[in-house]
Order: sequence, then C-alpha cells, then structure tokens
Amino acid sequence: RKTIGVLTSGGDAPGMNAAVRAVVRMGINRGFSVVGIRRGYSGLLANDMDDMDLRSVSDILQRGGTVLYSSRCPEFSEQRNIKKAVENCRKAGIDALVTIGGDGTFRGALDLCREGLPCIGLPGTIDNDISSSEYTIGFDTAVNTVVQMVDRVRDTSQSHDRCSVIEVMGRHAGHIALYAGIACGALAVLVPEIEFTIERDVVAKMVSSLRQGKQNFIVMVAEGVGHAPAIAEQIESLTGIDTNAVVLGYVQRGGSPTARERVIASQMGHHAVELIEQGIGKRVVVFRGGKVVDLDIEEALAMHKGIDMDLYRVANDISI
Ligand code: ADP
Repeated sequence: RKTIGVLTSGGDAPGMNAAVRAVVRMGINRGFSVVGIRRGYSGLLANDMDDMDLRSVSDILQRGGTVLYSSRCPEFSEQRNIKKAVENCRKAGIDALVTIGGDGTFRGALDLCREGLPCIGLPGTIDNDISSSEYTIGFDTAVNTVVQMVDRVRDTSQSHDRCSVIEVMGRHAGHIALYAGIACGALAVLVPEIEFTIERDVVAKMVSSLRQGKQNFIVMVAEGVGHAPAIAEQIESLTGIDTNAVVLGYVQRGGSPTARERVIASQMGHHAVELIEQGIGKRVVVFRGGKVVDLDIEEALAMHKGIDMDLYRVANDISI
C-alpha cells in the first residue's frame, strides 16, 4: 500500500481545507494511506505528521485557515534540509507528496522532486499571484470578503459625502484590488502592475464626477502600491473632500470558503491523487482556460502572469 503525504505551506487561504479533504478522501478511496504533515515544510523537517483517515477531515470543508497549520520555513532553501526532508519521508513510508501553497511552495516541491520524492503542487493563496494558474485557492473568498466589508464602508461614506480609500492584500499583485474594485464600484483601482498618478487617475476623475453630482467615492488600493492613509491624505489635500483610509488586513485571509472555492479546491485535490495514482510526479495542478489541468513544475515556475488588462479596462470604463 502506497502512502501520500499532504501539507499546506506559505500563507494560509480559505479552501485549503477543502483541498486537503479531497486529497485524503480520494487517496483513501483509491487505496492509498494518507499522512498529514503539520506546518508545511517545517513539519517535514521536524517529523511532525500523523496518519489521516476518512474521518480526520470531517467537518473542515466549510472552515477557513488550514487544519494542517502552515508556516514559512526559510531553512528549506538549504540543500541538506531538502535531503533530510526526503529522508524523513522515506522513513515515514511516504511515496509521494501533495504540497498546497504558492510559487515558493512549488520551488520547495521541485527541490524535493530533484531529490527523488514525487510531488504535486496545488495553488493556494488568496493573492492569486501564482504565475501558472488563472485561479488560486483562496482568491474567490478573499474577494468576496473585501466586497462585503467595502459595502459596509460605502454605506457610511454615502451618508457623509466622503471618499474612502480601501487598502487590500495581494502582496506584489493587484488581482484582489481589481476584482473587488469592479465588484464594489470603485472610482479608481490602483495596482502595482499599472502606472498611475494620484492627480490624473484619482483626483481628475473625482473632480469630473463631482460635477456630475457624485459625492462619495471608493478608491481601491493594492497593498503593493503603498499605504492607504498616505494616499487618503494626498487625495484630501488635493480635493478638499473628507477622505478616510481603511486597511482591511487579515480579515481577508479568513472566513468560510465560498462555494466556488470549495468546488475548485475539491477538483484540484482529486486531480492530484489521480496523477499520483498514474505514477506521475513533478506536476502542479492549475486552473487554465476554465479547466483544472496539470503542468510540469519547472515549466509552471517559468511562466509569467500579468494583471488582466481587459478587466482593468472594464474597471476604468465603467467608473465615474
Ligand atoms: P508561497 O508558497 O505562498 O509562495 P513562501 O514564498 O513563503 O509562500 O514559500 C513557502 C515556503 O516554501 C517557504 O517558507 C520555504 O519553506 C519554501 N520555499 C520557498 N522558496 C523556496 C526555494 N527557492 N527552495 C526551496 N524551498 C522554498
């Protein structure tokens, strides 16, 4: 009987549990044993792992975070630690590993493959910043959370004729800001991928909207472009409009995963086990062209994904 190890690594994201559950249930259904490794690569180095059964993933589908815990493990870039991790897997009888995380996690998985441990990576991060996948586990929930929060802020900005500058997560990428910006009817969306000036892309638009009678504004800012309080101050001083800043922070990382998240995460976990069953390793399971498919890890890591320019145009063209 072969054994699959599963771990979550890097920043946690809603839907990771759904993916873990799918790996465990599908793995066991196909005759594998499944071992859950705690705290990502740190747990692999510390032998922090346990056997999982069908019931150990009960009641987690709807929960945010990751029941396997996650960590950043900087030591994992050292070759001797990769060797140690592979050795630990051998001792634990683990024949293949499913690693759920971002591009950093995939790099770790590639190193493990090179040392002889077949790995399958699943894309898990709220930021949607994985180059090979159009969609990452956690993104849909994070965007929905932002939208709910901004709707509340909007109620009060509307009542006071204010401008609200909302800072959202995304690391060096603007995907959350762009999607949430459209969904919240933001006047402007500021993302690191696209050059902007506050004068041209925010203030000039506000002035023209004011002339048309609009009196409250949402400006969506990706954390990768700067801090909301400084941007709010700049807008207020240039327009004279009462402007506040809201930094949403970690609320975006938590919460119950949306239905879409749960479905895609389940599909991806299922697909990972199908690959392992066929004896295939060194792959990442990704979402491309509306489908769950797999790619070679190296090939996936060499890919580049920009921001969706069509969507950016939509954001701009329909904001007044
Ligand atoms: P993410 O997986 O979300 O991109 P990180 O960049 O923090 O998050 O990566 C998660 C973990 O993957 C790191 O803490 C480290 O253990 C491992 N990792 C990242 N980069 C590498 C690398 N170049 N080689 C080996 N392991 C890596």
